[in-house]
Amino acid sequence: MSDVYDLVVIGGGPGGYVAAIRAAQLGMKTACVEMRGALGGTCLNVGCIPSKHLLHASHAYEEATHGFAKLGVVAKEVSLDLKQMMASKDEVVTGLTQGIEFLFKKNKVDYVKGKGRIAAKGKVAVTDADGKETTLEAKNILIATGSESTPLPGIEVDEKKIVTSTGALALGKVPKKMVIIGGGVIGLELGVVWRRLGAEVEVVEFLDRILPTMDGEVSKTMQRILKKAGFAFRLSTKVTGAKTTRSGVTLTLEPAKGGDAEEIKADVVLVSIGRRPYTDGLGLEAVGVEMDRGKVRIDGHYRTSVEGIWAIGDVVDGPMLAHKAEDEGVVAAEIMSGQAGHIDYDCIPSVVYTWPEVASVGRTEEQLKEQDVAYKVGKFPFQANSRARASGGGEGFVKLLSDAETDQVLGAHIIGPDAGTLIAEVALAMEFGASSEDIARTCHAHPTLNEAVKEAALAVDGRQIHA
Ligand SMILES: Cc1cc2nc3c(=O)[nH]c(=O)nc-3n(C[C@H](O)[C@H](O)[C@H](O)COP(=O)(O)OP(=O)(O)OC[C@H]3O[C@@H](n4cnc5c(N)ncnc54)[C@H](O)[C@@H]3O)c2cc1C
Repeated sequence: MSDVYDLVVIGGGPGGYVAAIRAAQLGMKTACVEMRGALGGTCLNVGCIPSKHLLHASHAYEEATHGFAKLGVVAKEVSLDLKQMMASKDEVVTGLTQGIEFLFKKNKVDYVKGKGRIAAKGKVAVTDADGKETTLEAKNILIATGSESTPLPGIEVDEKKIVTSTGALALGKVPKKMVIIGGGVIGLELGVVWRRLGAEVEVVEFLDRILPTMDGEVSKTMQRILKKAGFAFRLSTKVTGAKTTRSGVTLTLEPAKGGDAEEIKADVVLVSIGRRPYTDGLGLEAVGVEMDRGKVRIDGHYRTSVEGIWAIGDVVDGPMLAHKAEDEGVVAAEIMSGQAGHIDYDCIPSVVYTWPEVASVGRTEEQLKEQDVAYKVGKFPFQANSRARASGGGEGFVKLLSDAETDQVLGAHIIGPDAGTLIAEVALAMEFGASSEDIARTCHAHPTLNEAVKEAALAVDGRQIHA
């Protein structure tokens, strides 16, 4: 009996590895099966972390080439060593993924390398790199197999000239022209990296706006800022074909609502139209786990349709974000061990790590209008925030939305320096059911960017001081 695990997690991404650690902390005998040869999943290996490192490094390059002079810092002969930039990224990734192996040892989680398949209820068959199969017995199985890039029909990815985000994180040279198919978060972040390093970047988007799930005012402002930074946009346009030539790629475009086709050329095309759940070879059908439009169907407690099989993260419904997957991992492990657990999905922040950053939590104005909720708006520009001005980042604003009657905070949308960090204050406020008055009455240190959040809260009732 001692060889039976209380929990076998399939997938070692932020959902899976966090669930495994939390389960082990709760006294469960736990194993985590991962097939990519490194822990950390999409996020650490080919997602959040390498993209943020390249955003950091390319920002430093841009500052050195365009930003320093104004500050009186004379940087002579600044040049780009792309190979070193990529090596530095790889070093960060390796350090962090190995860190998770250390955390597994510390928490006594067994790391099982190989591809997992649910062979039957309570049985996970693992095939290792040599093709050898072993079977793990488990009281509970957690599916945390994540997601993969959504393909675009008719466009074949070779990860050299036509790339997904994975290829775009490892290009060997700066393309002269990059076309990004899809104006969502991942495409824009990677576009910013390559634009800063010297590429001409054009975004082709099917819808009539970029960042379609974000607050309309924020996405318009972001488009304007990116245009100023050199981005070109073709909105309401669909890509219908791609031909790879010796020198690059020729794309065929059509207006989204129909019309004449035209061709554009690029050295590299990034296909970034979204991600889809990954369940290949998991054996879900055979064991009877029900799906819902490609996602594993779960109830409010992360249980699938088969007793003892649970699922979390990108493979289930909800925003495809690492922190959402992590929180679900913790809560699912706690529920499995008999505790109560809950996530307020209205309070999950999302961030675009460009410069300035974009961050949001809660509902947008568009959603509140659609839902017929009466609301108040408080807005404060970073131009009027002394810390932003002193640090060279006066673009953007904080917009706070609160209930017209109760003043409870319903959402916040920030575009500006460090927006991703600032949003945490509002997420916390929302978790506690705070009002804009609560934020406005909280003493904020001076000079900080957070004062813009406080001023936006004051602005809900027209009481802002500095604008
Ligand atoms: C370029 C990019 C940038 C991103 N940036 C951010 C960001 O800044 N912030 C953010 O919150 N999110 C970001 N994301 C999204 C984030 O990476 C995902 O939401 C997150 O990784 C989901 O975690 P997960 O554990 O559900 O799945 P994953 O991280 O996808 O992990 C699943 C793991 O399961 C393994 N696996 C799959 N099937 C099997 C099997 N049968 N057997 C064994 N192992 C298996 C896979 O190899 C993978 O390692 C980004 C994504 C990309 C692509």
